This record gives sequence, C-alpha cells and structure tokens, in this order.
Amino acid sequence: MSYVDEVIDLVVKQNPAQPEFHQAVKEVMESLRVVIEQNEEAYRRDAVLERLVNPERQLIFRVPWVDDKGQVQVNTAYRVQFNSAIGPYKGGLRLHPSVNLGIIKFLGFEQIFKNSLTGLPIGGGKGGSDFDPKGKSDREIMAFCQSFMTELCKYIGADTDVPAGDIGTGAREIGYMFGQYKRIRGVYEGVLTGKGLSYGGSLARTEATGYGLLYLTTEMLKCNGHDIAGKTVAVSGAGNVAIYAIQKAQQLGAKPVTCSDSTGWIYDPEGIDVALLKEVKEVKRARLTEYAAARPSAQYHDKAAEGTTVWSVKCDVALPCATQNELLLEDAKQLVANGCIAVAEGANMPTTIEATEYLQANGVLFAPGKAANAGGVATSALEMSQNSERLSWTFEEVDGKLKNIMVNIFHNLDDAAKRYGKEGNYVVGANIAGFEKVVNAMTAQGIV
Ligand code: NDP
Repeated sequence: MSYVDEVIDLVVKQNPAQPEFHQAVKEVMESLRVVIEQNEEAYRRDAVLERLVNPERQLIFRVPWVDDKGQVQVNTAYRVQFNSAIGPYKGGLRLHPSVNLGIIKFLGFEQIFKNSLTGLPIGGGKGGSDFDPKGKSDREIMAFCQSFMTELCKYIGADTDVPAGDIGTGAREIGYMFGQYKRIRGVYEGVLTGKGLSYGGSLARTEATGYGLLYLTTEMLKCNGHDIAGKTVAVSGAGNVAIYAIQKAQQLGAKPVTCSDSTGWIYDPEGIDVALLKEVKEVKRARLTEYAAARPSAQYHDKAAEGTTVWSVKCDVALPCATQNELLLEDAKQLVANGCIAVAEGANMPTTIEATEYLQANGVLFAPGKAANAGGVATSALEMSQNSERLSWTFEEVDGKLKNIMVNIFHNLDDAAKRYGKEGNYVVGANIAGFEKVVNAMTAQGIV
C-alpha cells in the first residue's frame, strides 16, 4: 500500500466519528500524492505525514457560566495547536452548536497549509466551543467569553498561540476575551487578532477575508482571460466573509445577487444592498426576512420549506461564504448547467469533494478556501506585526499588502500546479505550495 493510503487509513482508524477531519485529510493527501511518491522513502522514514496529521497538542475543557435566569450552563471548548513549524499557532475560535473535536481538527489541519500559503510566519491552530451566541444577551456573551478565556489564557500568548475570530466570534466576543486575558495574565500583548481599533486592532481586518477572496478571484479570472467586471455573482452566507465579499465585488464592477443565512436566502436581481445587509446582520443581528421586508426587489426563500439554495440562481461566479459542506454535487451540477465559470471558496471546505471534482471536470475554475480565504489570517498576521512594533498602519497600507499577498498566493499555487504537471488544478497547487514550506521547516527542525 502506498504511504499516502496508509496514512489516510490510519487517520480514519485513529480518529473515529470525525468525518470532516477525514475529509480534509483525504483531500490534502490525494493532492500531495504526486509530491510524496517522488520522495516516499525519506518521508516514510521520518514519519512526515504521521506528524503532519497529528496535532502537536489538543486541549479540551469545560466552560461553566451563569445565564440571565441564574442557571449555570456548561459548554465544551477546544483549542487544537496543530503545527508550529513556521510560526506561533494561529487560527480562529468558532462558537457554534455544531462544534466538536473533529470539526476543530479539520479546521486546524486546513489552517496549517493556508497560513503557509500566505508567506507569513504563522503556524496552524483552531479552537472554539459548542456555545451558541444566538439569542444570548450581551451579559451572557460576556460571561461565556470570560469563563472560556479563564482557562484558555494558560495556553496562549503573543509568541505561542494567537487565536482570532470565526463563525460566532466577532469583534464583541474578541473584546471580552481580550479583556479577560489582560486581567488574568497582567500583560497587554497581541494575544488575539480581530481586536477593536481602539485597543490594537488593524484597519482592514474586518474586510480582509471578503476583500482578499475577491482579489484572488479577480487574479484567477484575469489569468484565464476573464474580467470580474460585469459578472453576476452568487454568494452564500451573510456574515463577515459574505458581507465584505459582496462589497468588494460591487466595487470591482460585478453584481452580487444572493446571500443566505442558516434559515433562508435572498435573491435580489437589482444587486444586494450592502448597507441594508450590514444593518440587518451586524447591527440588528436579525434574520434575512428583515432584508426582504425592507427591499422591494428582493425575494426571500425559506430553506426548510423550499429545500433550495443560492446555487440555483444563474451566475458567472459562485462564492460559498457560509460554512463547510454547503455546496453539494447537485449544486455543482446546477452551477455548471447555468454557465458558471468560476467558484472560489470564502468559507472553509464549503464544497464537498464530489462537487469539487465535478466542477473541475467541467472546466470551472476552482479556488480552494485555504488559498481564497487566506486574506483573513494574512491580515491577522499583519495585525500581529503592528502590535509587535506598537504602530498602526493606514487602511490603504494594510489593504495594499493584502492585495499583494492574495495575488502572490494565486501565482504560487498556479506555479506549483504547473511544476507537477497539473496546470489549472488550483486545489493540488494550493496543497503542494502550502505543504512544501511546512515540511522543509519540520525537516530542518529535526524530530520534534
Ligand atoms: P459569521 O458567523 O460572520 O457568518 C456565518 C454565516 O454563515 C452566517 O450568515 C450564518 O447564518 C451562516 N451559517 C453558519 N453556519 C451555517 C450552517 N450550518 N448552515 C447554513 N448557514 C450557516 O462567520 P464568518 O463569515 O466569519 O465565516 C464564514 C466562513 O468563512 C466559515 O467557514 C469560516 O471558517 C470561514 N472563514 C472566516 C474567516 C474570517 O476572517 N471571518 C477567515 C477565513 C475563513 P446565521 O446568520 O443564520 O448564523
């Protein structure tokens, strides 16, 4: 059996009931096959792949907190410190009822390669909890965040592990967590990114993942003879990534016509009204029905009642920006039938392996999340740099660096794919380019 197959089997056996983690490992390993097979003996002797798929450290802890009725609630929290070969662990904190160890491991594993692709010195990690921020009061959110950080603060630090936001963890949650870290540890340091501007945050961090997604998508389209201007874009999600992807797409002359949340989706043929979307989602924290109520051109589709998704809308470019496994094989078929030319993942692993393969087989340009959404973590690393030098850069400076990073990422993965005879396969290119740097660093540092 080949080394790659052995390690895939091992991961499935050693990590039962973690399908998302298996999926992420399989996707990466399959695309690394061509690299590993050229060097199989040395990699096997050094157990490079076994070390890569086993986190350096996994923390699981309970988070007790008191709700507004005086009832004690208990959540489970995780921090997986996956790989520190090229820098301190870096990766977000997800707060969502679906969070479990397997989800955090899949995200942490992906993060290793994504962080490597940015060209910046950051290792891979991820964390979170099954706490659901929806419907909680500000006081309850603070109580949870403080209790969560009371334990987490023992294991993180500006030079060891620097968490950030993710689903359910926005500026409010990062603020409460930062305050608690400072109070317990007694140090004012850049231990979290995504902070508010008044206490060490970076301009353009809020916009970075969505903007970065569009910078990379524009470059991918350009290198394949297309222009983003004038394209109709389908976007899923209505959170941080989706909102700023929609905004940048409009600035670049494209027309985003959809967005979605966990209960339904909007089709707005006039183009999404970003100011209204921000008001509904960022200020009121309400459902998309409120968007439809305020916008005559918008049609609201209830997900449970209709079973439809944004991918049924005719578009040139599709940007899944909500969550994992939200673009399935039947969606991919629909996109191809509707003439879609490019899919770029704003979310982490939103496209299933079968859907990805179908899109690629039908000539759709496909940019995987670990490259396409790397703008968020790249700008987090720029926030770390600013914190270290105790300076703040202008919006234009950060945005300019972000754009360069995204364009470079695209060319790195394009080149890596070409080097191994897989031209145009950006999934393979991203995995190879991310892997090479990490494995070089791991090898240089010996068996640790
Ligand atoms: P947000 O919490 O801001 O928004 C998530 C959006 O997706 C919301 O509209 C939410 O709907 C929807 N959603 C969440 N879970 C589900 C689900 N199970 N089914 C359907 N819809 C769902 O998160 P972000 O925008 O920050 O993150 C979105 C994705 O991008 C995630 O995969 C994240 O890991 C990834 N990502 C984020 C980065 C960042 O900088 N924020 C960086 C890189 C990747 P509702 O409003 O109903 O909850």
